[in-house]
Amino acid sequence: MNIPDELIQLLQKARKVVALTGAGISAESGIPTFRQAQTGLWAQYDPEELATRAAFQRNPRLVWQWYAWRRQLVQQAAPNPGHLALAEWERIVPEFMLITQNVDGLHQRAGSQNVIELHGNLLRVKCFDHDHTVPTWEEDEIPPRCGQCGSYLRPDVVWFGESLPAAGLHTAVTAARTADIFLSIGTSSLVQPAASLALEAKSYRVPIVEINPQSTPLTSAFNFVLAGPAGEVLPELMGRVRGDGVMR
Ligand code: NAD
Repeated sequence: MNIPDELIQLLQKARKVVALTGAGISAESGIPTFRQAQTGLWAQYDPEELATRAAFQRNPRLVWQWYAWRRQLVQQAAPNPGHLALAEWERIVPEFMLITQNVDGLHQRAGSQNVIELHGNLLRVKCFDHDHTVPTWEEDEIPPRCGQCGSYLRPDVVWFGESLPAAGLHTAVTAARTADIFLSIGTSSLVQPAASLALEAKSYRVPIVEINPQSTPLTSAFNFVLAGPAGEVLPELMGRVRGDGVMR
């Protein structure tokens, strides 16, 4: 991959690095992105039609089972070299913030600590009516019910049409504005408000970098575009930033 020296110098000088990740960074761990053709049983369902409150009200069993399938995929998956490179970066730079749209928890499993989960985490559940969080649950009824109020349990993720956690979003916007460099990795830049973070950073004169094998509606706005898979580009980038060129 041809990585410009100018970018390496910016990254080496940066004291505050902020990265936004999307489903693409987990693709190499075998977790399909929403827009990748899905195979098997679930190919007939459109994620945008399953990931809403209305869908759950219409067919709670179907939505619960779709998430149970995704939860199982995630539990069987392992972080890939892209996740690991970001965790390493956090250890060597004074300030590093990872903002993720992913709900799979793979960044934390790779060792990242300063992570904002903008869209929640599918390994957690809460109840539909009151957001009571529930640490463990039995699947004798599908979906199971909340022990406190009796409403159905649902994944603790942000569905289409729901608000993002306000504190997390505020921290993410502030971090984007005050970064020395901002990276957008494996995201189609279609889902708002996460997609606007890169442009917000740019409006504060923060250089912005995109890592994605495909172009996105925002590609032309980026100062640097590294068009390749995150699991290959990030380890190479880290090797160049460390200065030893070694991909770990
Ligand atoms: P998206 O599915 O819209 O887009 C994925 C992007 O990743 C695409 O632009 C694609 O070109 C790119 N990509 C594919 N393989 C890649 C690779 N190896 N390296 C780098 N980039 C690669 O995903 P999104 O932008 O994150 O938005 C969709 C929503 O879907 C988010 O809200 C997210 O919460 C949810 N989602 C999460 C997961 C997960 O947690 N792993 C999986 C699917 C969807």
